[in-house]
Amino acid sequence: MNPYYTDYSEYLSRVFPGMKVQKLSVAVSGTCPNRDGTISRGGCSYCNNRSFAPAYCQPGLSVKEQIERGKLFFARKYPAMKYMAYFQTYTSTHLADRARLEGWLKEAAECDGVVGIVIGTRPDCLPEETVEVIAGFQIPVMIELGAESSHDETLARVNRGHSWAQTEEAVRRCADAGLHCGLHLIMGLPGETEEMMLLTIERACRLPIESLKLHQLQIIKGTRMEQELREGRLEIMKFSPESYADLCARIVAMMPRRIAIERFLAQAPPEMVISPRWGLKNYQFTTLVQNRLTSRSVIENN
Ligand code: SF4
Repeated sequence: MNPYYTDYSEYLSRVFPGMKVQKLSVAVSGTCPNRDGTISRGGCSYCNNRSFAPAYCQPGLSVKEQIERGKLFFARKYPAMKYMAYFQTYTSTHLADRARLEGWLKEAAECDGVVGIVIGTRPDCLPEETVEVIAGFQIPVMIELGAESSHDETLARVNRGHSWAQTEEAVRRCADAGLHCGLHLIMGLPGETEEMMLLTIERACRLPIESLKLHQLQIIKGTRMEQELREGRLEIMKFSPESYADLCARIVAMMPRRIAIERFLAQAPPEMVISPRWGLKNYQFTTLVQNRLTSRSVIENN
């Protein structure tokens, strides 16, 4: 057990006792309301979906085919591994009517070794009917909600197209239906100070969520942020690995044990990243944070 916080593997071992469980990405949606004109056409200014979809994950393939391809990555190394189908790319619940959504979930659940499902979506794409379909499903389904920040001015600045109040409402809808819900947050969005980021964590921790997935802002090629950077219009905090680890240690110190931390770091393919180019693996960064927590210096100095 991690002495400082509940890590995601500890949380998963509570949900799936006695199993080693791995997420497998599945792409079913090729768009989101921020790209298809439902809200806007520009997309969030930091987003390039190619930066987080693994190669085996192709929307042209069926859910089952994607899962079987993904399993080949892990099954040879860990034959006893179980899986959560992770509907990751774009916004999986956007434009998905009841029948389609039920079809995807059923196809995933019927794959050998799949014990759970994670659905990545936006707070404004979880209407009552969608929550009802998900909550009634036969295996555990968790929601991963892209909240990114609790500051509406930041959300407007990066063109998220939803507010923090919508995030709060979606989380409560999930909790009322008995669904596990985690928030995805980005640290270092334009215009944000560390105090604003910590306030987001504080607000998130007041909600009935099970997990937080954090990462540092990455400037990815092909995004509007890349253009803003080139034009000198991007005001962001420049973290070093050490200063970001300090922030993460402060975050850990604020968090209740009931909320698990899934990760601190994003690792887009290096050829797509403009900055920061730290070259650190997730486990290496986690060690940096743990060292800070062990020395307690960051926490005691703040
Ligand atoms: S981050 Fe999500 S909502 Fe924003 S443009 Fe990308 S896919 Fe769409």
